[in-house]
Amino acid sequence: MSAVALRAVRERLARAAEGAGRRADDITLVGVSKTQPAEAVRQAYDAGLRDAGENKVQEAEGKIQALADLRPGLRWHLVGHLQANKARRAAALFDLIHSLDSLALAERLERAAAQHGRRLDVLVQVDLAGEETKHGVPEQGLHALLEFVRGLKSLRAVGLMVLPPLVDDPQASRPFFRRLRGLRDTALRDGLLLGDQLSMGMSHDFEVAIEEGATLVRVGTALFGARG
Ligand SMILES: *Cc1c(COP(=O)(O)O)cnc(C)c1O
Repeated sequence: MSAVALRAVRERLARAAEGAGRRADDITLVGVSKTQPAEAVRQAYDAGLRDAGENKVQEAEGKIQALADLRPGLRWHLVGHLQANKARRAAALFDLIHSLDSLALAERLERAAAQHGRRLDVLVQVDLAGEETKHGVPEQGLHALLEFVRGLKSLRAVGLMVLPPLVDDPQASRPFFRRLRGLRDTALRDGLLLGDQLSMGMSHDFEVAIEEGATLVRVGTALFGARG
């Protein structure tokens, strides 16, 4: 990753924040480093990136170990789907899991976090498109899942995440981002969230996400270049 690419993305982020009347400091840039070598993440860290995102536990594990010297300055995010049988490792490896989407997974993560003696921050991924290939809890199941997590000792639900259908037009993502924000506001009002995080927006649509209130944007190709 080049320092130039990071600067360009930060400028896009700052411009979008300014246009929306928000502070750029309130938006965390998560550099999604999947398929990139650990060395690329180290370069990104040297250029100033402090949050790295991965979508597979197995792939992340090697990089997190290789870059252990950068912690705790470098935080690791799991942005991809988490299979129940990887929950134990994920609970030990990541600072924030963006993809909690079922009661069963919440139970597994709770047990693992308790065993590691740690509090684990999670976001609940909501499936707003109803696509069969997508992960996430359906909107109708969100309240029950958040209530369940509220009763757990080691998991802290600090916000929501969405991954809209992938299309070229960034404006097509806007209704999904707006909907997620509404769900977050309702959950906060109902006392079901311990934070107000909204993980939404990728390389092609993060400006729209910022306009709609994103606090975490997950940016891969715009930072690291095309994936092989
Ligand atoms: C890969 C990925 C991203 C980053 O996508 P880009 O288009 O490369 O910015 C964001 N979120 C998730 C869940 C991903 O899997």
